[in-house]
Amino acid sequence: MNALQALNLLDTPPSESFDRITRMASQIFNLPISAVSLTDRDRQWFKSRIGVDHCSIPRDKAPCGQVAESAEVLVIPDFAQDAFYADSVLGRSGIRFYAGAPLVTREGYSLGALCVLGTEPRTVSPAEIAALTDLAAMVMAQIELQHAFGRVDPLSGLPSRNQFLDDLADLAAEHPDEARIAVLIDLGRPEQVSAYSRVMGPGRVDDLVREAARELRRLIGPGRKLYHTAATQFTFLAPRGAQQDDYVRLLADEHRQARQRSITGMLLTSAIGVSVFKPCTTAPQDALRSLYSAVQDARSLHDLISVYSSVADEAYQRRYQLLQDFGPALGADDQLRLVFQPRIDLSTGRCIGAEALLRWDHPELGPVSPGEFVPVIELSPHAQAMTAFVLERALAQARCWQDAGHSLVMSVNISAANLIESGFGQSVEAGLRRYGLAPWQLELEVTESAIMQNAEQARRQLDLLAAAGIRLAIDDFGTGYSSLAYLQDIPAHVVKIDQSFVRKLADGERERSLVHSMIHLSHDLGYRVVAEGIETAEAADQVRAMACDEAQGYLFARPLEIGTFETWLREHEQDARYEPALAS
Ligand code: C2E
Ligand code: MG
Ligand code: MG
Repeated sequence: MNALQALNLLDTPPSESFDRITRMASQIFNLPISAVSLTDRDRQWFKSRIGVDHCSIPRDKAPCGQVAESAEVLVIPDFAQDAFYADSVLGRSGIRFYAGAPLVTREGYSLGALCVLGTEPRTVSPAEIAALTDLAAMVMAQIELQHAFGRVDPLSGLPSRNQFLDDLADLAAEHPDEARIAVLIDLGRPEQVSAYSRVMGPGRVDDLVREAARELRRLIGPGRKLYHTAATQFTFLAPRGAQQDDYVRLLADEHRQARQRSITGMLLTSAIGVSVFKPCTTAPQDALRSLYSAVQDARSLHDLISVYSSVADEAYQRRYQLLQDFGPALGADDQLRLVFQPRIDLSTGRCIGAEALLRWDHPELGPVSPGEFVPVIELSPHAQAMTAFVLERALAQARCWQDAGHSLVMSVNISAANLIESGFGQSVEAGLRRYGLAPWQLELEVTESAIMQNAEQARRQLDLLAAAGIRLAIDDFGTGYSSLAYLQDIPAHVVKIDQSFVRKLADGERERSLVHSMIHLSHDLGYRVVAEGIETAEAADQVRAMACDEAQGYLFARPLEIGTFETWLREHEQDARYEPALAS
């Protein structure tokens, strides 16, 4: 009985790996009924069955019980002729023939029988007995396989991820249309787990994981399977019929309490992902993936629990695709290109420069806005290559303008990654030399938050660039958490006031005085000021009246393709003569 209990087999769902053996037995004997029958305290329970409707029969006078007790093959050629079995449950139900081979573990414990039954009396040949014995051995091999390497986690003794996936597959066969709730508990972010290991040593972390496993076992209650699906992750299924909202509320409650109790344990840093799925339409691997997605989302939530959302997942997958495809895009010649948005001197109305802005035509997704892909790429190893790509093409364009007699400053956006890139300053200077441009013809735009990410290193890099005579602009000014004390030290020449402030100019006096103060403050610190996102003549007039130096925005021009930019420039140069009149 103990051996059987330890195998966690009783009352588990049917499984194809056993069913194919019973099918074979019934074929070999050409009999309608076959079963893998396990002997419990008071019943014969069928792990696999063909031609039987019920999942168990009473153990009393069950021939399989005798096979289990004797651990020997039993053949009953005719129930009607058998004094003991004639009035058994099977005998009375019309069974006339039985043959069963024992299921014996390596240690010699007998768990039950593999049996075939018929409704006519029958004899068996020695070859048939041998086949039945072989098939019983195959059932045992399958049972042991389920317990072997890869199915039980050696640390916790809990069923592993492989077992979880197999059980999900069996679930699909058993109750295909029933929605189920799966739960994944992640004990800590990778950096938290490595911090644990670093401080306490890996042995102690193993102890903590075991401790967490015990606590979780208690939480989900007896008789339910807890899986150890990754080093610090556990998974289980909610009881059948559980309602999503109620269940998630309950989980959140218990999780909060468990975290409060676990002052030193790993549950303290744990997060929970929940996924609701139909086994028939969701492949086991996808169910597991949705749990990963949910638990990752949970990390950013206050109560550290999140239900899988296909919307969040699609957004994540899209970001992942952008990341994967950006490398090839850098190498292709038809995906990435620059557009140029004019910058206007507000006192003369003339175009005195342009900002180079990157555009991506993705082969499958179509145009992807830089507002979407730039933040993703900036956090990836492609960040430096992206700037190098833009810089190279922007400098080439600046050279063309110079050759055509336009005196324009080229602005290029750079990323936080460039501020810690060794040799960045030198490569910018080399680029300028290669195209025969003076340093003042290039301006590098960098946001406050990029500077603050790595303030010390950023400062050194910016000093180097400024010393080389390259102009620096602080982009999106006002949106970061800037320390004025720090910014006043930055060797920048230009401050670009973010469009979010400019857009609100029409809203009221407070909004206007905010922009006014930003302009004056920047002037006091010696910066030239650019207003971003000027869309209306009123806004242009307002910032001009506040002594703002330059403006950029749809009022003057959208970011333009290179051919259009040159046409725009020619026309604008003619009109510009009249523009200052606007100011009066
Ligand atoms: P940014 O550097 O602040 O660029 C200005 C953005 O404002 C551009 O958006 C531009 O099209 C938009 N804009 C300009 N005038 C107006 C206006 O009047 N109204 C409105 N509503 N928008 C206006 P875009 O091109 O979509 O770029 C978004 C951001 O992506 C940029 O903001 C910049 O942070 C980043 N980005 C674009 N190209 C590059 C690049 O080559 N390198 C890096 N590191 N970032 C880039
Ligand atoms: Mg910019
Ligand atoms: Mg900006």
